[in-house]
Amino acid sequence: MERLDSFMARAVAAYYAGRDPFGAAGDFTTAPEISQCFGECLGLWAAVVWQQMAAPPRVMLVELGPGRGTLMADALRAIGEVMPAFRAALSVHLVEQSPRLRQAQAAKVPDAHWHQELDALPPGPAIILANEFLDALPIRQFIRRGDAWLERWVAGGGFVEQPGLHPALPASAPEGAIQEVCEPALALGAALARRFASQPGAALFLDYGPAESGLGDSLQAMRAHGRAEPLAEPGSVDLTAHVDFAAVARAARQHGAATHGPLPQGLLLQRLGLMSRAAMLARAHPRQAGLTLSAAQRLVAPEAMGQLFKALCLCHAGMPTPPGFEAA
Ligand code: SAH
Repeated sequence: MERLDSFMARAVAAYYAGRDPFGAAGDFTTAPEISQCFGECLGLWAAVVWQQMAAPPRVMLVELGPGRGTLMADALRAIGEVMPAFRAALSVHLVEQSPRLRQAQAAKVPDAHWHQELDALPPGPAIILANEFLDALPIRQFIRRGDAWLERWVAGGGFVEQPGLHPALPASAPEGAIQEVCEPALALGAALARRFASQPGAALFLDYGPAESGLGDSLQAMRAHGRAEPLAEPGSVDLTAHVDFAAVARAARQHGAATHGPLPQGLLLQRLGLMSRAAMLARAHPRQAGLTLSAAQRLVAPEAMGQLFKALCLCHAGMPTPPGFEAA
C-alpha cells in the first residue's frame, strides 16, 4: 500500500524517464509543441521583465520541466531578435530529472545548465518559466466520510481509505467530496517567494486548473491522446492533476512574494501579441498560413486551451506589474 502522492511521484518519474511523450505520435501535445509563437511570446515576456528588474548584467533564464526544450529554443530565438542585450546577459538553466528528456533538450538548447531541482539553482537574478510542470507534481487526496476526512492510498490498482489529516482541509464538506493538496507545488511557491525576498526575480506558471480553489477529483491519465485508467499501470500513462493556482499564490504571498493572476492563458497570450506574431508568420510562410493561424487560435480560444489554462506570476515584491497581468 502506498500513499497517492508517493505513487504519483514514482509513476511520473518512471513515465518521463523512459520516453518522449509529446506530439501526434505520443500521448499528449503541449502549447510549445502546438505553436512556436507560444515560446516566442514567453521569451518577450521575460525580456520585458528583465527590463523591469533594471536589466541586471547577469541573469538566469530558467525553465522547470522543459520537455523537449521547444519553449526555451523559441524564446531564445525571439529574445535574440528583439533584445540582444538580454540575450547577452542571460544564462539558460533547465530543471529536469528525466535523462531522456535532458538529451532532447540538449539538442535544442546546447548551452544550457541542467539541475535536478530548483534548490540547486545558483543565487542571483532569475526569470523562471514553467509550462505544464505543476500538473505533474504529486497530489494527496482526502475524501469526506461522515463527519471526518480519510486519505486515499493505492493498493492493487485501486484506492484504499486510511485515516489522514491536513491543515488545508475544510471543516465540513458533502459526503464523498474530494479535497486535493499538492504539497510540492505549495513548497515551490514558498521557496520561490523566499528566493525573491532577497534576490530580484519572477516566475511564470502556465497550466490547467480552476481560477478558485475548490473540491473535486482531478487526477487524470492520458495515453495516445485519450483518457486512461490512472492507477492501473504506473509509469505507462501520463498522470496529472489540475493546479490549484490560488493555493500556490497564497503560499507565495505568505512568504513575502507579490502574485499576479491567475489569468486565463488566452488573455495573457493575446496581451503579449500572440495573434499578431502568428499573422506575421502566416504572411511570411503563406503555404502554412492556415495551420499557423489555427494553431495560435487553439492556444487562445476559450473553447480550446485559452480558458481552462491559466497563468500565474510570482515575483519580487518591489517589482512593477509584469507584462500581460495589468488589471482588466
Ligand atoms: N514544459 C514542457 C513539458 C511538460 S511535461 C512542455 O510544455 O512541452 C512535464 C515536464 O516536467 C517534463 O519535462 C518532465 O520530465 C518534467 N518533470 C516532471 N516532474 C518533475 C520534477 N519533479 N522535477 C523536475 N522535472 C519534472
